[in-house]
Amino acid sequence: MYNYDFLTALKIEDALYYLDRLEKVKILAGGTDLIVNIHKKSSRLPHFDYLLDISNIEELKFIALKKQFLEIGSLITHTQLIEDTLIAKYFPILKFAAQTIGSPQIRNRGTIGGNIVNASPAADLLPPLIALKARVELVSPGGKRELTLTEFLSGPYQTKLQENELLTTIKIPLLNEGYLANFQKIGRRKSLAIARLSLALVTRIDSENIFQDSRIVPGSATPYPQSFPVTEGAVNGKRTTDLNLEEIGEIIAKEMISITGKRWSTPYKSKALSALVIRALKEFISKAGTK
Ligand SMILES: Cc1cc2nc3c(=O)[nH]c(=O)nc-3n(C[C@H](O)[C@H](O)[C@H](O)COP(=O)(O)OP(=O)(O)OC[C@H]3O[C@@H](n4cnc5c(N)ncnc54)[C@H](O)[C@@H]3O)c2cc1C
Repeated sequence: MYNYDFLTALKIEDALYYLDRLEKVKILAGGTDLIVNIHKKSSRLPHFDYLLDISNIEELKFIALKKQFLEIGSLITHTQLIEDTLIAKYFPILKFAAQTIGSPQIRNRGTIGGNIVNASPAADLLPPLIALKARVELVSPGGKRELTLTEFLSGPYQTKLQENELLTTIKIPLLNEGYLANFQKIGRRKSLAIARLSLALVTRIDSENIFQDSRIVPGSATPYPQSFPVTEGAVNGKRTTDLNLEEIGEIIAKEMISITGKRWSTPYKSKALSALVIRALKEFISKAGTK
C-alpha cells in the first residue's frame, strides 16, 4: 500500500512550485503506465510522497509549427496525434505509430510525454521519434534544458529526467523534400498488444536515387530503442537499384545480436526484424521508382 498526498497543478508554474518546494514528487499525466505500476506495486516505481497530477495543464496541450520544428506539448494524447492535421501533413509516421497503441481508452488518456518518460523498450512512439531526431524540452524551477531523445534515454525504463523536472515539449525538426518514413509493428494480438517488435525507418532518396541520411530504429529489439548505425551505414550511399535487401536483412539481425547477445527470442526476432527492414526498404524503392 502506497501512502501519498495528491496534488493538482493547473499551470506549468504551479507544477514547478511543487517541484521546487517538495521532495519525492511523482508526476501523473494520463496514468496509463503509472497507475498500473502503482496497482501492481512495481519494483520499478521509486518511493514517492506526492502524486502531482498535471493532466489539466492546458499549456501542455498543443501542436504547433515553430520555425523549422513541429512542437508537441507533452500532454498531447495518442488520439490527438492521430487526429491532428499538422501531424498528418508533416509526420504521418507518428500517426501510424499512435494508431497501433493499446485501445481507444488508452489512446484517449495516454500521452506522448508519458510514453517518452516511461521509456519502455516497447514504447511505440520512441522508435519514430528517435528516427525523426526529436528533442525534448525539460523545465525545472532552475530553468530549461533541451536534449535529443537519444541523449534523454539512458536505459530500459530510465531517462535523464531529474527529480524536479517536467517534460514540457517535444520538438521535431521538419524534414526536407525527398524524405520517406515507415513504421511497422508486430504485436502478439491485433489489439491491446504491447509491441513484440517494431521498426521505424526514415531515409532520403536523392535525385540520383541514392539513399542518404537513413535512420533505422527498432522497438522491443534492444533494452531500449536506439539507432542502428551499422545498418544505416550499409544503406546510405547505395542506389535503390543496387541495394542488396537480403544483405541488409542479415546486417540488421547481426547488429541487434551485437547489442542484446543471444536470447530465447533471438531466432524469432532476427528473422522478423530482417523482414521488417526489407519490407520498408522495398516500399521506399517502389515509391522512388514512381517519382
Ligand atoms: C492496456 C494498456 C495497453 C497499452 N498499450 C500500449 C501500446 O500498445 N504501446 C505503447 O507504447 N504503450 C502502451 N501502453 C502504455 C501507456 O499507455 C503509454 O506509454 C502512455 O503513452 C503513457 O502515457 P501516460 O500519460 O498515461 O503516462 P503516465 O502513466 O501518467 O506516466 C508515465 C511515466 O511518465 C512520467 N511522466 C508523464 N508525463 C510526464 C511529464 N510531462 N514530465 C515528466 N514526467 C512525466 C510519470 O511520472 C511516469 O513515470 C499501454 C498501457 C496499458 C495499460
